[in-house]
Amino acid sequence: MHLYRLGVGEIGRLLRKRVISARDITGAFFARIRAVDQSVNAYITLLEERAHAKAKEVDAKIASGDELSPLAGIPVAVKDNICTQGVETTCGSRILSRYRPQYDATAVARLRAADAIILGKTNLDEFGMGASNEYSYYGPVANPWDLLRVPGGSSGGSAAALAAGETTLALGTDTGGSTRQPAGLCGVVGIKPTYGRVSRYGLVAFASSLDQIGAMARSVEDCALLLSIIAGHDPRDSTSAALPVPNYHDYLTGEVRGLRIGVPREYFAEGIDPEVESAVRDAIDHLAGLGAEVVDVSLPHTEYGVAVYQLVATAEASSNLARYDGIGYGFRAEDFDDLAGMYSRTRHDGFGNEVKRRIMLGAYVLSAGYYEAYYLRAQKVRSLIRRDFEEAFASVDCLATPTYPTPAFRLGEKLDDPLALYLADIYNTSANLAGIPGISIPCGYTGDGFPVGLQLLGRPFDEKTLFRIAYAYEQTAEWRHRWPELDIPVRRSADGV
Ligand code: GLN
Repeated sequence: MHLYRLGVGEIGRLLRKRVISARDITGAFFARIRAVDQSVNAYITLLEERAHAKAKEVDAKIASGDELSPLAGIPVAVKDNICTQGVETTCGSRILSRYRPQYDATAVARLRAADAIILGKTNLDEFGMGASNEYSYYGPVANPWDLLRVPGGSSGGSAAALAAGETTLALGTDTGGSTRQPAGLCGVVGIKPTYGRVSRYGLVAFASSLDQIGAMARSVEDCALLLSIIAGHDPRDSTSAALPVPNYHDYLTGEVRGLRIGVPREYFAEGIDPEVESAVRDAIDHLAGLGAEVVDVSLPHTEYGVAVYQLVATAEASSNLARYDGIGYGFRAEDFDDLAGMYSRTRHDGFGNEVKRRIMLGAYVLSAGYYEAYYLRAQKVRSLIRRDFEEAFASVDCLATPTYPTPAFRLGEKLDDPLALYLADIYNTSANLAGIPGISIPCGYTGDGFPVGLQLLGRPFDEKTLFRIAYAYEQTAEWRHRWPELDIPVRRSADGV
């Protein structure tokens, strides 16, 4: 039995029946990580000792017949821009290479309280800035479907870890697609919740008005369960919503009859890969076959999404990243003459080129004389983009689109062309600008065997409808049990790998 391939429900059943222990599970995952992560590079930090200690606690609870949380004993990976008390939280950056937060992010605290087993911290584009996971100080992540391809980004480590069986669940973050896009390129499930659904306390800020923590898994059911644990109001984040979190499981009915699904025509325009388009259109037909009503809709301001996103995100990033000055956190350069020299040397050596590019762009768009022309105008267009969605959701329950215009591309292929990488975020960034939820689920494979993602966007706080539709699709389509042939032979060991 490959423990690393099981879902949350199956692991939970084996634990409760005492067929396996939490320590067996933990051991099996670290064996799997040792076998494959040298090639995948999904993790920056492994927490083997802590994980075993937690597993021991869970086993003690089972032995004494205590009631267990649904996540008890379940392996989780945490993206490395989410704070973990006493454990390096690098954000994929040299500048935070020695940073150990004194507190847990609320999402992490909730995982710990639910007795999940945190295996480690996953790789990402530096501070979440990127779509290929090539902009990490800790090296690129490989896509388990082809080790020469990118896993997407910036939560590429979390997505690759799931695809390769190096965890059961993972946290990602999504400022402009970073949970959905790597989920799409790695053939797993990832949801960006509504802005305010999950507390941002302890999430290292990239662009505060766009950032959300996302839930990632290999199945819709597991993804819904993970979100239900991390979602909900948090007095420590004033932007977190004081709304009850539905029991998402109740909506996994397989029933979509009567739901209206909009297909925005602007999301199928120029630049989409034909194999991606046909897989997504087949998925939409499939949903129609299940009884959903499919209608054409228009989101007329779609073409401005990336420009507006880049203006807003870089402006906020330039201000958020001003705090890394070599004093409060992590890395400090050694070679300097005075205080100003220490600041500039630290930032020069500590940040990678993509982060520097974004800080410069952001400082520029906020500077006197340009603020009105760029930032203020971007905020106005942001309102128009939000209004497009409001108008669409007056007549449909969700929107179905591709997650990304292409399948996973080759490592290095786009390194010389950052603009091309920005433009390809076209299907993702509008949801962050509007604050609405979006999920990516696998909807097929290209002829060369690379996963294609279907993105479903929903009304604010209506993640339940996204899960409902995603689940109905997943349960009746043929894509959910595939595994990449990464399988570097793993020796059978006592812990059942
Ligand atoms: N590709 C987007 C960017 O480069 C993704 C950002 C994100 O969601 N963290 O900014």
